[in-house]
Amino acid sequence: MYGAIIGDIVGSRFEFDQGSKSREFEFFTRENDFTDDTVMSIAVAEALLDAGKDADEKTVKECLIKSMKKWGKKYPHAGYGARFIHWVLSDDPKPYGSYGNGSGMRVSPAGWLYDSIERTREVARWTAEVTHNHPEGVKGAESVAAAMFMARTRASKEEIKAYLEKEFGYDLSRTLDEIRPTYKHVEDCMRTMPEAFTCFLEANSYEECIRNVMYIGGDTDTLGAIAGAVAEAMWGVPESFVKQAKLYLPEEIIKVVDRFLMEIISVI
Ligand SMILES: [Mg+2]
Repeated sequence: MYGAIIGDIVGSRFEFDQGSKSREFEFFTRENDFTDDTVMSIAVAEALLDAGKDADEKTVKECLIKSMKKWGKKYPHAGYGARFIHWVLSDDPKPYGSYGNGSGMRVSPAGWLYDSIERTREVARWTAEVTHNHPEGVKGAESVAAAMFMARTRASKEEIKAYLEKEFGYDLSRTLDEIRPTYKHVEDCMRTMPEAFTCFLEANSYEECIRNVMYIGGDTDTLGAIAGAVAEAMWGVPESFVKQAKLYLPEEIIKVVDRFLMEIISVI
């Protein structure tokens, strides 16, 4: 789980096109912080644990709504979009057709928990559908979780790339050097997912993947959370990064991560 959280923390000081699009930078500084990507990943983690591994759609979605509202209210200034805040505060929260990259940034717990790619994709879809029920929003969540499942079950980067192109229709033919010159801060899945996956595909370690994110710029904390989650499933995260990331996190967030890691210890 720290793969997504560290990507969020490291990317937080470069989002909204604030960076110089370089691979050379400090991972952890005084200007970094966790943002909505971390808070909602924690919310999804807690919801999926509360629901249980074999829960049905209704149970999973009820747990998701409860947990996302709870954590959203705890950290209301973490950087959500206006429609999401409205959803968090609503007494009768309904999906609002979003294709924002929020569905991809929060889904990573689903990538760890389940024993088949079909179940992984099913639960990932549900994590999107409570808010992001636009087909592109759903694809954003399913594709990240599927890539994570493949990475942790020892598929190669080539196999993951081929699967993402075939199953989700993403164009992964552009290199980071082709993406970088014109890439800007955008918050939809269509212009986030292929870029995040390419940051992973052009890396050979977790650290390289996160450096690739800052190299192309854009919505760097969300790209970091997405690409970082897949990279962690492939290579793991250096312990020194985890130690530093924890210094930014409130105790109640670390507790959920610890609970989550205890649950998945058998699968990693
Ligand atoms: Mg954010």
